Amino acid sequence: MNPILTFLSNHPYLVTPIPSLGWVGWLVLLGLIVAVIALVSFSRLLRTAEVARQRLGAILASTPDPVLVTDKEKRLILANPAAKQALGGEPGSSEGLLTDHVIGQQELRDLLQEPDSGNRSAELVMPDGKVYFATASSIIAGGRPVGRVCVLRDVTHFKELDALKSDFVSSVSHDLRSPLTLIRGYATMLEMVGGLNEQQLGYVGKIVVGVESMSHMVTNLLDLGRIDAGVGLQVEQTVVMDIVKAVMVPLQMIADQKNIELALSAESGLPEAINADRALLQQAVYNLVENALKYTSEHGSVTLRIKTVSQGLQFEVQDTGIGIAPADLPRLFEKYFRGSQREARAQRGSGLGLAIVRSIAELHGGKVWVESVLGQGSTFYMLIPSSPLDTSKTKPK
Ligand code: ADP
Repeated sequence: MNPILTFLSNHPYLVTPIPSLGWVGWLVLLGLIVAVIALVSFSRLLRTAEVARQRLGAILASTPDPVLVTDKEKRLILANPAAKQALGGEPGSSEGLLTDHVIGQQELRDLLQEPDSGNRSAELVMPDGKVYFATASSIIAGGRPVGRVCVLRDVTHFKELDALKSDFVSSVSHDLRSPLTLIRGYATMLEMVGGLNEQQLGYVGKIVVGVESMSHMVTNLLDLGRIDAGVGLQVEQTVVMDIVKAVMVPLQMIADQKNIELALSAESGLPEAINADRALLQQAVYNLVENALKYTSEHGSVTLRIKTVSQGLQFEVQDTGIGIAPADLPRLFEKYFRGSQREARAQRGSGLGLAIVRSIAELHGGKVWVESVLGQGSTFYMLIPSSPLDTSKTKPK
């Protein structure tokens, strides 16, 4: 006999039929089983979500950098403890409220309310004097922006170091000025006090060129220090064409020497005058046009274009020069930065000209940027807003 059948006949209770439930009973039983399974997986899901939420909460709570998150309706939906401390708010008091009501800093509000999906950064000075570098970006879900997240980094210490460094550079530059003037003066007087042979004259010429380039650098350093500190900013009604003349006339000589066509294109309907510091604006435009001539080879062309745009007056300096390597573009306006190309390095320079332009533009509430194609040329843009200057950007004298 089959061993299974033998086993079952020895244990008859195993084959006792299950009492009949009827089809309704079976359905109920099945429903119960499904419900239990669903309940178990749902509670497991809940536990996983809760663990993830707690982990995220712990990370955010222990992050020293303030983190703020807003939803599409510009409501603050998350602010970690560091953010609450930075904003000077009570823990848990601001979430769910409109950013307009809980964030006093206009620039921070702008970062959090930016409608497009782009990343934006800004430097924020808090009422307690701390300086934060804030970066905001959109949160994308299902291909659509559903809010903004902003991370702030405390850069107060770096700012203080930067100010110390600038002070040091300014005082050294100042002290260098007198000896340089002395060297230049005596070097040029040498040939007046006795005949010099050709070789000696050559050496004197080299000393003068060297001293002049050092003096130029010292002047740049001092200018930058003054501009950064907002010292002596004199805002007045500045006639646009006066600036243009003061830049184009002296630079025309350099253009002629290099056979470069220097052109001006001023759109009709330009405002006659703008609210700006005349000397500084002139220096910024001068630096841009001077650079364009410096980094354009013979027979090229440089155009200074001025036009009105919705936010103010825009200066554009276009050249057909060496262009700028894409890798250099992000650092171009930093202090002491010099382009990496051989043609750029062949020119004398301190890497301060564009930093000065940026400081001047920002001091006026404006901005500067560049578009360039390596080997084909560059266009530098400087926007000076027509609206009244933001005096908060002008530090006390
Ligand atoms: P400098 O000219 O003294 O080096 P700047 O701050 O004026 O310093 O310029 C920084 C760098 O930017 C330059 O070294 C050069 O590489 C690049 N640059 C500036 N203007 C131009 C231009 N019009 N065309 C190409 N490169 C430029």
